[in-house]
Amino acid sequence: MSLFHFSPFFKLNFLQVEVSTVCNLRCEMCPKNYFDWKPKSMDLDFFRKLPFGRFRYVHLQGWGEPLLNPNIGDMIEISKRKCRVGMTTNGIFIDEWKDELLKLDLLAVSIAGIDSQKRVRKCELEDVAEKIRLLASEKERPKIVIATLMMKNTIEELPRLVEIAKKIGADQVIANNLDYIPSKDLVGMEVFSENPDERFLRVISEAERRAKELGIEFVARPIKLEEAAVCAENPLKNCLVTVEGLVSPCVYLHLPTRKDYIVRFFRGEEKRVKKLYFGRADEFEMVWKSRDYSDFRKRIEMRLYSEIDLPEPCKTCYKAYSV
Ligand code: SF4
Repeated sequence: MSLFHFSPFFKLNFLQVEVSTVCNLRCEMCPKNYFDWKPKSMDLDFFRKLPFGRFRYVHLQGWGEPLLNPNIGDMIEISKRKCRVGMTTNGIFIDEWKDELLKLDLLAVSIAGIDSQKRVRKCELEDVAEKIRLLASEKERPKIVIATLMMKNTIEELPRLVEIAKKIGADQVIANNLDYIPSKDLVGMEVFSENPDERFLRVISEAERRAKELGIEFVARPIKLEEAAVCAENPLKNCLVTVEGLVSPCVYLHLPTRKDYIVRFFRGEEKRVKKLYFGRADEFEMVWKSRDYSDFRKRIEMRLYSEIDLPEPCKTCYKAYSV
């Protein structure tokens, strides 16, 4: 039976909602630094119209800092009535929104690394770590995840970051890859490749070992490039609503820039990919079942059982290669 067989009881998995494209930081790997960015907060009245009941989980974050949306407290409350809710934040405003954040099911805090936090994120690790520690000490609280990025100039800090995460009361560390490269300046900073460097594999194993010893969950994305049938974003069951209310398969296909295309660097070369979206999220059922969106998903679904090429916009996306 097709994965797209629709019944009123069929739940999709993961709805990512870009509630803000504003950010207070200037991290060196962030596309905001390289493009003509549109800083904007999602309107609360529009947010109320989103199809939360159709999803098991909603993640309130896209390309921006969600806690800079002035209505984020109401947004957490509204979405929580219908499904599980989480968010990724840079951690700076945790104390200002503490009561609201305690209602979440999952809170991920992005940390560049230990010594790298100041260089990459231009903010102090100690400040953010203390805010996480205070939140983690609450009895009723969300699962707290430290999300970090493995880059050539940060990966060595991974085992120590696991120790700090444990010390401040986090439940899990997730090590992601620099899977979207917005500028030539960043080419070569990624740690993944067809033949991953033994040094990087050893650091990841060491981080795994320490996490096990300390009793904290640890997940690192693979660093070997291998074409996947379906990427980890899984557009068959997940989607993004952009800050402007458009439904797109994932954040890698829509950035809040003024151009109608995305610039990405793939295998060292600049690629331009037309932004991909299928309609407005306040008409979600119609958009999800539209011919174009169904065809896009169908093509990916068929890759599960036959040798079919990736859809064109995915061919130059590193997520399609398992990292
Ligand atoms: S391969 Fe990349 S662009 Fe394609 S759906 Fe997955 S994350 Fe999005």
